[in-house]
Amino acid sequence: MDAKAGAQEKFREAETGILELSHRIHAHPELGFEEEQASKWLADALDAAGFDVKRGICDMPTAFVARCGSGPLHIAICAEYDSLPGIGHACGHNMIAAMAVGAGIAAAKVADDAGLTISVIGTPAEEVGNASGKILLLERGAFAGIHAAMMVHPAPLDMLEAKLIAASMFDVFYTGKEAHASAFPEQGINAADALTLAQTAIGLLRQHLRQSDRVHGITTHGGDAPNVIPAHTSARYIIRAENIDELQDVRAKVRRCFEAGAVATGAKMEIRGDDKPYANMIYDHEISAVYRRNSEALGRPFPKLPAMFERLAASTDMGNVSHAVPSIHPMIGINSLPAANHQPEFTAHCIMPDADKAVVDGSMAMAWTAIDLAQTASLRERLLRASSAGSAGAQASA
Ligand SMILES: [Zn+2]
Ligand SMILES: [Zn+2]
Repeated sequence: MDAKAGAQEKFREAETGILELSHRIHAHPELGFEEEQASKWLADALDAAGFDVKRGICDMPTAFVARCGSGPLHIAICAEYDSLPGIGHACGHNMIAAMAVGAGIAAAKVADDAGLTISVIGTPAEEVGNASGKILLLERGAFAGIHAAMMVHPAPLDMLEAKLIAASMFDVFYTGKEAHASAFPEQGINAADALTLAQTAIGLLRQHLRQSDRVHGITTHGGDAPNVIPAHTSARYIIRAENIDELQDVRAKVRRCFEAGAVATGAKMEIRGDDKPYANMIYDHEISAVYRRNSEALGRPFPKLPAMFERLAASTDMGNVSHAVPSIHPMIGINSLPAANHQPEFTAHCIMPDADKAVVDGSMAMAWTAIDLAQTASLRERLLRASSAGSAGAQASA
């Protein structure tokens, strides 16, 4: 039996448990850095499958690494398992988690024969937008010695190399002074006005942003009572751009908008976050091509995308990994249109039969890709040569 058939046979034995894991995580959504149950379930499943599991790595209680095999080519498969506030697993990270375990277990079966070491890395808090799990794991050396990294992410349709741009998240706090809103308003400093002015300035700024730039946010505190001049308001914003350099430029412009609110009202402004941004994704096209062939061999071709996908640009901390280690991040379709990621309708799709089929295909496509990387001499040698991943990762995410 060849390696790929062996991996597939192993996956079939595990399949029921893998799908059950996807559904269980979906039913118990946990926010970033709080994924206690999900990380435990994944680590337990890999432990039971014979992996050497280390929990709570790099000072993150919900991060883990599970290793199997001792071949020269060391492949990381990244698991994400955080959800979104209020709408649960609307990004399908339950499926990412299940696919990482599925691919790991399938590839582990043949790892030594194929010349592979497989690390399933549990990466917390992908959705937080700044100083996320993979960024901290990279800084703290969890990707040291890794030759290539991969993960598969759910989406409405299959996409081999979706556009993934740089991003950063931050909180803005305004501090003014309370006053009776009717009797003595002249004594107040209105922190809500400061935020309104900043939002107006950002609205005007949009004329001057590049097509690929993004600015979006929410008010996290708008005041406490309509008859008290608000002394404390806050907002949470994400800025995005094609790459880290262009992000600096957007950041400077958006900060001036927030400063404008403070200047006009006399409120004080403080910004927290925005110190460890997400980098744009650099795809390793050669590994992507291997994944494409395996996906197609599993009966899952990559469709021509409809027009609504033309402006699509999202972000992920896998981008930071890709600056340190040759990486891929294919999207796997769950046939959810018109529902798409970050909608509650998409949450519902992430445990439907098409999602389960995607978990099976994504697991196998990653396991087969790992096998191909180890067994294709030119590719294997290139990846083995460029192996200073961990230290480069710390620099890339700084
Ligand atoms: Zn998401
Ligand atoms: Zn996601």
